[in-house]
This record gives sequence, structure tokens and C-alpha cells, in this order.
Amino acid sequence: FDSRDGVIWYDGKFVDWKDAKVHVLTHALHYGSAVFEGERAYGGEVYKLREHSQRLIDSAEILGFKLPYGLEEIEAATNATLARSGLVDAYVRPIAWRGSETMGVSAPNNTIHMAIAVWEWPSYFSPAEKLKGIRLTWAPYRRPDPLTIPCKSKAAGLYMICTISKHAAEAQGYTDALMLDYRGYVAESTGANIVFVRDGELYTPQPDCFLDSITRQAVEAIAARHGIKVNRRHILPEELATFTEAFLVGTAAEVTPISEIGEYRFKPAAISELLMHAYLDEVQPKKVAAAE
Ligand code: PMP
Repeated sequence: FDSRDGVIWYDGKFVDWKDAKVHVLTHALHYGSAVFEGERAYGGEVYKLREHSQRLIDSAEILGFKLPYGLEEIEAATNATLARSGLVDAYVRPIAWRGSETMGVSAPNNTIHMAIAVWEWPSYFSPAEKLKGIRLTWAPYRRPDPLTIPCKSKAAGLYMICTISKHAAEAQGYTDALMLDYRGYVAESTGANIVFVRDGELYTPQPDCFLDSITRQAVEAIAARHGIKVNRRHILPEELATFTEAFLVGTAAEVTPISEIGEYRFKPAAISELLMHAYLDEVQPKKVAAAE
């Protein structure tokens, strides 16, 4: 992945993809002091660029560092990197981290670096294929207490338990893992929030110890426009037996129906299908109607 052609925006300049490197004594590599975003461009525009860029700034602030670029500079750099890539439908990965000047847990004066990479990431499955649903198993780790970790920061370090959980799921032939939270309530998958359906209404865990997914909020707004009620509350794993449909929501996942979570079975049906299509419609750049 690090040897392809193209350019990466790195500390304000475009550098060749192959040369976008960090030193091995980078603070972020040793102590997890990096924050990032996952964004998608559709039709040449990054969907919810403002929300993602603001979350990047907030994530850094939670970890105690300030990005050397403001909101508008980050947006401009993102758009410039997308334009340079020549891609219209793409995945966008901004990342910011503490550099390598001093080594040790405390490094308040290390330079804050930032990079933005853009690559092609098509939806591999057609909507019909997606409606078959993916299979999830239970994760070996739980989302920690907000007093244990800064859970509202999209910080690289918090993904350690996600990678372990996803690898464990894949080793058993599953696509992903569903994590409980520290209290034993249903939380989210390793890279997306989760939504359930029962009797025409949506049920989704209260995002009080994991990311408040921008995609989930968009899907909730679409549901509201279709008169579908959204219940945001704690969900115990046993309650999964009462839900008929389930789907993941996230920038990368978009709306991905689920067929199986551990011992529970789901049948992607009308509501998953409606929201999957409505979301794909929603993310397309809106053409401003020409004035008469
Ligand atoms: N939870 C986790 C752990 C994630 O990595 C992501 C993807 N950023 C999400 C939820 C979904 O968030 P969003 O819809 O804002 O991309």
C-alpha cells in the first residue's frame, strides 16, 4: 500500500506517495498519539466534509494537541488532495500525530504533523448482494468506560481492540465483530455503529461510550423524513432475539445489512433496503437547480 503512485498531502505540501514517511521514533507510533478521520467522496465531493474535519480537530483537542491548521484550511487541503487524485468516488484519510523531537510519554512540544491520503474504494457489492447481509460474531473486547479512555476522540490507540476483535472474527470466517460496552450493553462493530429494526421502528444504542457516527445521524434523519421512529437507548444482547432486521452504519460501511450476529438471525427486508438506497441517494452531490 505504501508503494503506489500518486501524492499525499503532508504538512502542507504534496509529496510522492512512496516518500510520505515518518521516523521510527515518532511519538504516535510508541504512545498512540494520533487521530484520524475516514471520509468518502461521492461524485467529486466529500460527504459531510465539515463534520469530519471538525471531528478531527476535536479528536486532537481531546488528546491535548492542537492541529496546526484551522477548519477551512483542512477542508481546502482535503479538496485539493481529492482533486489531485483525479478520483471522484474515493476514500479520504486525514491523520494528525505527535512527531519525534523528544522520546518519552511526555512530549508536549513535539511537532504536530498532518497528512491526507485519498484512494479508490469502490463498494464491492451491489445493493442486491449487500441485502444478503453480513455475518458478525461477538467481539472478545468491550468498549471501555469513558473514564478509562477518551471515547469521543477518533484516536488511533482506541482501534487496538478493534483490530484484535476483527482479526478474531475473520479467523472464524465472519466479516466483523459486534462489541458490547463496559456495562454489557450492545455497542458497535469494529468500525461502524449498529441499528436494529422491530415493528417498523429503529433501535440503536445510545452512543455514550463510542463514536456518535456521522453516518448514523444522517440515516436517522432520513428515517425521520420517512416517518420511521428512531429509538436511541441501551440495548441488552438478549434483546437481539426480538429484532427482525439489523444493519451497520458508517462512512466505509454506508448501510450494510446484517444476516447474523452470534446466535441471532436477521432477514434484511424493507426498512434496510429503503435506508440503504436512500443513503446512497443522499450522499450524491446535490445539483443546484438552475434559475428559471
Ligand atoms: N465507530 C467506529 C469505531 C468507527 O471507526 C466508525 C468509522 N469512522 C464509525 C463508528 C462510524 O462513524 P462515521 O459514520 O462518523 O464514519
